[in-house]
Amino acid sequence: MFTRPFRYERAGQYTHACELLRTHGDDAKVIAGGQSLLPMINLGLVQPEVVIDISRLAEGRNITVDADGYLTLGALVTHARLAADTGARAAQPLLPEAASLIGNGRVRNRGTLGGSLAHADPAAELPLVMVALGATYEVTSGHASRSVRAEDFHLGFFTTSLDADELIVSVRAPVLGPGWGWSFQEVSRRDGDFAMVSVAALIRSADGLVVEARVAAGAVSDRPVRLADVESGLTGCAVADIASRIGPIQAIRPASDTSATARYKQRLTRVLIARALEEAAGRSGQAA
Ligand code: FAD
Repeated sequence: MFTRPFRYERAGQYTHACELLRTHGDDAKVIAGGQSLLPMINLGLVQPEVVIDISRLAEGRNITVDADGYLTLGALVTHARLAADTGARAAQPLLPEAASLIGNGRVRNRGTLGGSLAHADPAAELPLVMVALGATYEVTSGHASRSVRAEDFHLGFFTTSLDADELIVSVRAPVLGPGWGWSFQEVSRRDGDFAMVSVAALIRSADGLVVEARVAAGAVSDRPVRLADVESGLTGCAVADIASRIGPIQAIRPASDTSATARYKQRLTRVLIARALEEAAGRSGQAA
């Protein structure tokens, strides 16, 4: 049941949607798959007077692997499409793996990449993976476009660096290069629930030693967080010893909630980091 009627507008292009956002200002919200916005409207958490539908845009639906070693994903790519895309799985398996863990089939069939990133739930899988990968978001206001690093985009609980008239058009993420291994670990109370804690890890190794590590955690702060202190302790260590080299984990601030206490989440984070590092290290070292 919708708490208050709203006017429906369908955008034909991104520029049209941005123009409508400028015209209606704070009274307007964009809808893509509706898997976050509609529950929030139903719960009365947001009450837009105008809803601008971008779900029919022709743009923003491609998944392409560029010659320069990047994957480009359109903002309207659904989680189900990303999870099933063989090209994406070959180029950067972390992305389809994370998308396959979102919600349930209905949610994955309608929910979109741009919606998940813009909704900015700190427990969401895709923002976490983008921070781990060092991805950039291509954003437009219809008048101008800019690239925003994932770590600079997610500013806090459901808060991003998008301007009021801006939309995410696409995301660029690096492919999994030679010697890299990957892992995505999460625990949720029930299958399809948001994660209590999630960890994404990428390890590059050569001759049995760790050369480079990227580790990020989700649902343990107000945004996905890179664990720089963990990463710095891993460089140069033997792949076989990686899980024993997890130092202090400073960047996380888990909160107690109905799913678990903060103390439990703190300990669970360490367990998931160890699992992710071992799995990523075990997959690393191979040539391209
Ligand atoms: P919408 O609901 O259409 O929009 C979400 C927000 O993003 C709105 O503020 C909208 O204005 C804005 N927006 C949409 N597209 C753009 C764009 N291109 N540029 C800028 N702003 C935009 N999410 C998870 O990550 N993990 C889960 O496990 C999970 N489980 C769920 C379970 C259920 C039952 C439900 C209903 C939702 C769940 N979600 C989960 C949340 C949801 O799946 C995602 O947040 C959702 O997929 C967002 O995509 P959407 O296209 O539906 O966004």
